[in-house]
Amino acid sequence: MQGRCTCGQIKYRLTDRPLFVHCCHCRWCQRETGTAFALNAMIESDRVELLEGEPEVVNTPSNSGKGQKIARCPTCRIAVWSNYAGGGDAVRFVRVGTLDEPDRFPPDVHIFTASKQPWVVLPPGTPAFAEFYKASEIWPADSLARRAALLAKR
Ligand SMILES: [Zn+2]
Ligand SMILES: [Zn+2]
Repeated sequence: MQGRCTCGQIKYRLTDRPLFVHCCHCRWCQRETGTAFALNAMIESDRVELLEGEPEVVNTPSNSGKGQKIARCPTCRIAVWSNYAGGGDAVRFVRVGTLDEPDRFPPDVHIFTASKQPWVVLPPGTPAFAEFYKASEIWPADSLARRAALLAKR
């Protein structure tokens, strides 16, 4: 499960499956990506191994008002992951599109569908929420256990 920026200066590897994959349809993600939604694979920061390069962290405003830190390639400026204030530095939101095999991680949930662009048709069977949701209600047991281990470390 390797990923990279567009110029190839940053290369990374996920050493485990993501905890959960968010497809976020909020206006902030739309503006930030310049498209209809963001696709983020949540994973523990220590399960993202940097193979080459060193991303530059850019403090960026976020929907919550608390900001997010976006890790970008210092040369081509592609974002490879971000940390949100809520999850702290322990959880990374890896941009699924920067993985070499992005097809492996379709959304586990659609969030902020209240601002979804109307032409985007959501597949039946994938949970979707007008805003956010409770992890305890839809995450698989092993992801919840990994999340509990993270929270215990804080
Ligand atoms: Zn680059
Ligand atoms: Zn969003």
